[in-house]
Amino acid sequence: MPKLSIRDIELNNKHVFIRVDFNVPLSEDGTEITDDTRIAATLPTIEYALRHHAKVILASHLGRPKGKPNPKYSLRPVVDRLRELLDKKEDNYSINVAFAPDCVGEIAEELARQLESGQVLLLENLRFHAEEEANDPAFSKALASLAEIYVNDAFGSAHRAHASTEGITHYLKPAVAGLLMEKEITYLGKALEAPERPFVAILGGSKISGKIDVIQNLLDKVDTLVIVGGMAYTFQRALGVATGKSLVEEDKIELARETLAKAQAKGVKLILPLDNVLADSFANDARTQVWDCTVDFPADWQGLDIGPKSIKAIEEVVLTAKTIVWNGPAGVFEFPRFATGTNAIARAVARNRAAISIIGGGDSVSAINQAGVAEQITHISTGGGASLEFLEGKKLPGVEALTDK
Ligand code: AMP
Repeated sequence: MPKLSIRDIELNNKHVFIRVDFNVPLSEDGTEITDDTRIAATLPTIEYALRHHAKVILASHLGRPKGKPNPKYSLRPVVDRLRELLDKKEDNYSINVAFAPDCVGEIAEELARQLESGQVLLLENLRFHAEEEANDPAFSKALASLAEIYVNDAFGSAHRAHASTEGITHYLKPAVAGLLMEKEITYLGKALEAPERPFVAILGGSKISGKIDVIQNLLDKVDTLVIVGGMAYTFQRALGVATGKSLVEEDKIELARETLAKAQAKGVKLILPLDNVLADSFANDARTQVWDCTVDFPADWQGLDIGPKSIKAIEEVVLTAKTIVWNGPAGVFEFPRFATGTNAIARAVARNRAAISIIGGGDSVSAINQAGVAEQITHISTGGGASLEFLEGKKLPGVEALTDK
């Protein structure tokens, strides 16, 4: 880890500003948290700071309130959930969690001043101020004035240079990684810089356009690249095989052809589906047939999942890999009948306990959860967009801004 982490610094009695990702899904009326995974993910960092007698100030965005206060996007419902999660029932004590109705200004400053070691202050939604996303220096300075140490644990926002992820670090040092951020940088960084080999990447999802930069960057790193999902059909077309009504990006066929040539030149084994489950309509109850991918698809049919031969070939490379990166589903897994390939990949990745396995992207993460194998995965990335940009080889502003070791 090239950056300082919260474990490297003295926290005792200090005001510690922790940028967290509490961008949780809320019920329609904005009062109930429907999934607290993101809060739970950052608990180790908050608990670490509390154990080390810090005065903890938490800041996050929630939804897209477009720079104006909007009760629908208030972080207030998070207070009670946080209190519950932090409660140490076994030790019979509870943590004091206060709420500041604005993330900057007099009230926030006063509440921060009143904080004692081992207490928590949650600030209202950062994006109630347009200055947050504009990375405004005065706003960054106002946030910085609340604390003496900056911790970033919001990996999912690290690809954006906002006031709370980048600007603030100009006024508040040291700027260090939280435990979740540290884990993200360590696993993704190691996969890209010094992977245990064989290194296999599986990329799926709808379009090449969304993943081409990842494909290009990974071609310099991996031993085997597996391409599945909707984007495989553009590659199939590049190989001269018709794909019926399957999803194809006509303007990317040439790029797919170049990518195939590049993989070959670099000695990377590129695996495309061998067979597909074709459907006669885009529906869970469509008629289906398994079809060999070297043969033109019938004109009215479309591929919605990979077939059994493809699954077997992917299982083989996954089970012998030492590093696995997976991002994107192998089919339209939202329809249970076309989730077979995606679920099979989830189980195969989980079965290989000897490999470092890294899962990114919301769809692959839900497939892992659906298959009930999350415990067997080395690292499930919390940041969809951020992990993709990391895999593209881009520098993330929120990571770059942290103090070097
Ligand atoms: P992405 O957002 O690019 O990662 O793509 C995720 C989406 O790709 C999911 O909603 C899947 O339903 C979709 N997808 C995967 N395979 C196919 C396919 N064969 N045809 C159409 N859509 C697909």
